[in-house]
This record gives sequence, C-alpha cells and structure tokens, in this order.
Amino acid sequence: MIVYSARYHIDIGLHVFPTDKYRRVHDRLIATDVCRPSDFVEPGPASWDDLALVHTADYLAKLRSGAMAIEDIAQLELPWSAEVVEGFRLMVGGTLAAAVIATSQESPLTRPANPQAPIANPQAPIPNPLGIHLGGGLHHAFPNHGEGFCPFNDVAVAVRVLQRHGLERVAIVDLDVHHGNGTAFIFESDPRVFTFSMHQQHNYPMWKPRGSLDIGLADGTHDATYLAALEGALPEVMAHRPECVFYLAGADPYEDDQLGGLRLSKDGLRARDRLVFDAVRSASTPLVVVLAGGYARRIEDTVAIHTATVEEALRG
Ligand SMILES: [Zn+2]
Repeated sequence: MIVYSARYHIDIGLHVFPTDKYRRVHDRLIATDVCRPSDFVEPGPASWDDLALVHTADYLAKLRSGAMAIEDIAQLELPWSAEVVEGFRLMVGGTLAAAVIATSQESPLTRPANPQAPIANPQAPIPNPLGIHLGGGLHHAFPNHGEGFCPFNDVAVAVRVLQRHGLERVAIVDLDVHHGNGTAFIFESDPRVFTFSMHQQHNYPMWKPRGSLDIGLADGTHDATYLAALEGALPEVMAHRPECVFYLAGADPYEDDQLGGLRLSKDGLRARDRLVFDAVRSASTPLVVVLAGGYARRIEDTVAIHTATVEEALRG
C-alpha cells in the first residue's frame, strides 16, 4: 500500500518546485509494473488539531485565513491560496497515513490499509513493516512559520501523533540535500526523537539548528564520499533503538539538481536508499518513506530517482 493523492498537484504558478512530480512518479510506478492502481490509497487531510501538535495557533490561524504578511510569503517561497493550504494539509495527512501503515500490527502486505486504524503495539513482530508516501518531507517548516516550500512539517506532526499513541523512540533520517532545519528545531529538546540530517553544508538554510547528528558535506562530494559517510552514520541512528524510522529520500543530492550541489549520480542515490533500507530492515524497525525535495533540470530525472527509491523500498 502506497499513500498518494492526485491533489498533490497543486497550482503554485511558474516555480522551481514541480508539484506534478508526485503524479508523474505515481504514473511511472504503474507504467513500469512496479505497482498496480489498486496499490495506492488516498489519504484524508491532517486535522487542524493534529497540526497544532507542532504548529502554533497564531501561525495556523494565519494560514487558514490567508492573513499572511509579505515577509511570511517571501520566507515560505510559495503563493498563498486555499488550494495550497488544503493541498499541503492533505500531504501531512499522507505522511500520517503512511506512519499508521508502517506501525500497524498487521503487515501492510496482508491487509487493506486503513488510515484510521489504531496505531500499533510496537512489540508485535512484523517483518519489514513499511509505509510509503509519494509526498511529504516538508522539513523546513517551524512551529511558528513556514519556509522553503514547506507550510507544515509533516514528519514532525506524524511523530507527535505516534508519541501520543505511545511510541517512545523515533528516528528521522533526512537525506534531502538541504539541512532539516525545522525538524531539528522542533525536536531539539526531545531526547525521544533522534534527528539525523546529512546535507550540503554551504546551501540553504543558512541557520542550521543542531540535530542529534548532523553531517554537513562539502560541495561536489560525489557518490563514494557520500556513501561512506552514510554507512558510518547509520549505526549511530539505529543505536537509538527507534520504534519507527522516517526516511526523507530527497532527490536533490542529484548531480543535475538546480538547488543542490552534492553531485550524486542516480546509481549513487539508489545505493544510498539501499543502505538506509538495509540498516532499518536488519532491525525489523517500522519504516516510513517520504519523498522530500527534487529539482533536477529535467523533471524526468527527479521522477526516476523517486521511482527508484520506491522500487528499492519494495524490494524487501
Ligand atoms: Zn531539499
């Protein structure tokens, strides 16, 4: 079961953020027989109460009413519209649904997904419990403001919901090319959540709040250095003994990305995914995969990278 909605194709005008990548990844997974149309499940929007587990009442009120100042819009780098707010609220619901699938008692492979199902008893042994969301990874959103195309922090909301249902330890593996500043800030003083970000050091965001483990890489690092650093870091993440891992599989470390400069190849990105999946699977830890960024000059490249991530996740 893969969480996805055609309504993620949000009209934000001419923009470097290709919101039709979600539909394209969905279509390609079907065209290449990786998935059937019946494998996809449509999420419901996250409730405003769930969003308030992370975001301040003032900020949510501004988003709902459209009373955004020019500075707010400039920082968010998205136009405000009711469609934008609802599209991203739905996307938070998608990450939440994937988290429920991953942490549910029964294997997602043997039962129909029900996003409203109760969250799991984490003791129940399931081989490779997995929730995939063709969306999400909005890691630049802070409690009181959005920035960098991220109005809400979907993973943070999902983590707060899992905590409310009794999960003690969660890890976030953020391999988008940009530092996960909002996520690091939100969980800075919560020892239950291990935040790992590996990113390009000299890139947005300028201010990088400290996470549990931050690896800032030099420009043009290429595959080998990147993969060695990741391989070295993953044991530290898993030593936290997470009951659920969220993986932000950003496509923007790619060598032809317009907003990234790490210069990884497609093969390198696939190897990256495999390292993460192997580490999480070997501990039989529930895994939630979200897509995060991707701004390749050719949108087909971004789509191919995200599709490869899903293929590797399903390989099992
Ligand atoms: Zn990014």
